[in-house]
Amino acid sequence: MSRPPAGPTVLSFEEARRVVEEQAALIQASRIQSGETESVDLLAAAGRVLSERVTADRDLPPFPRSTRDGYAVRSADLSALPATLEVIGEIKAGERLDRIPASIASGQAASIMTGAPVPAGADAVVMVEYTSPLNHLIEDHRANDHRVEITRSVAPGENIVPRGAEAREGAILLDRGFRLNPAAIALAASVGKSRLPVYKRPRVALLTTGDEIVDIDATPGPTQIRNSNSFSLAAQIQQANGEPILLPIAPDELQGLRPLIAEGLKSDLLLLTGGVSMGRYDLVEQALAEMQAEFFFTSAKIQPGRPVVFGRCVVETPTAGIVAGERPVTYFFGLPGNPVSTMVTFKLFARSMLEALAGQAPRKLVFLHARLKKEIRTRTGLQRFLPAILSGEFGQAEVELVPWQGSGDIAAIARSNCYIVIPADRERLTAGEWVAVMKSD
Ligand code: AMP
Ligand code: MG
Repeated sequence: MSRPPAGPTVLSFEEARRVVEEQAALIQASRIQSGETESVDLLAAAGRVLSERVTADRDLPPFPRSTRDGYAVRSADLSALPATLEVIGEIKAGERLDRIPASIASGQAASIMTGAPVPAGADAVVMVEYTSPLNHLIEDHRANDHRVEITRSVAPGENIVPRGAEAREGAILLDRGFRLNPAAIALAASVGKSRLPVYKRPRVALLTTGDEIVDIDATPGPTQIRNSNSFSLAAQIQQANGEPILLPIAPDELQGLRPLIAEGLKSDLLLLTGGVSMGRYDLVEQALAEMQAEFFFTSAKIQPGRPVVFGRCVVETPTAGIVAGERPVTYFFGLPGNPVSTMVTFKLFARSMLEALAGQAPRKLVFLHARLKKEIRTRTGLQRFLPAILSGEFGQAEVELVPWQGSGDIAAIARSNCYIVIPADRERLTAGEWVAVMKSD
């Protein structure tokens, strides 16, 4: 791969996303080849990424399955209605094979329950709602008079899932790189997998920088603030199934910064926060450049989050197992220190790399649409991601900005549940228009 150009690289949001997606795809491919794996209990597998395929151990469903309570019939017998059929048996879910009628002949039906196997000869199931057993109508109730009257016809195949229609024995149900959601876990359970092989969680080092930042257990001086970024990031990393590692807070001074960056580069991914803006004491880029880092971008035309930095650095020991031009590298992001910017840039960029390091197949960011409640005026040039509240009923999603004091306002972002996304060329969004929204979790 060609080396990114030296010096500042300012990209649009789409360009920056593309760069991250490209790198994420490379990382995922290498993880699929040689990522470290472990086995986890199915109960602990939610959110983990499969490292081996899950296949069907038998046909799904393993028998033609009735999807209704009713009567298994030959659909051709119901061409004239009402039709009266002889009931030759009852089939419960889980019925033993030797108790199921061998075949349903013309003029016959079998009472059948949801989830029970449909006998040979029958090609449809009539719902019980459209049937009346005739033996109830007979005064002396002879048990051997088993007939049913049917008032509705059925198409061939109706209310039956044929054997193997969901998957054939041996078919791939879940591929490597699939992130296990609840349905995938149900699927694994349905083929008897009580444990699953998954990729190990990536270790993500968190290095916050700033002379004003103190540990949350310390009593801050009058001009100091507590480190909140490492905690929002740790929560976001855990949600994305990474393992956060908090490094000590780095000072705004190269000598103190360098060894902590070197320490952070020993993880699978390094996230720095703060120190990437234009201030005299923003030294993160300089420290990384001295370590021969490659920068894919050093700024993106977004707000919040404009100073975001993405790159990779050659490391002595192959920690993440990722190589570039035969040399082991660790990827890093320099996220802006403003707490809202930190959270937004993690979601927009860093999460994709973390997912790739976890072996997950790349996925796109998801944008929804909602009606804007109140007009928004802004300036052009930057794509905005502004904290907002999404509400409203089905079919009438509404969204409005949370009042905020800018990218440092953690209280405002804690009240929000999404971001309104404003394209860089829009100056004014009018009340009632459909706007793009990105959910914040
Ligand atoms: P910087 O990106 O270093 O210029 O910081 C931008 C703003 O974010 C400043 O107001 C910092 O005090 C604040 N900030 C930086 N790091 C943190 C952190 N870890 N927790 C909370 N606020 C921070
Ligand atoms: Mg700073």
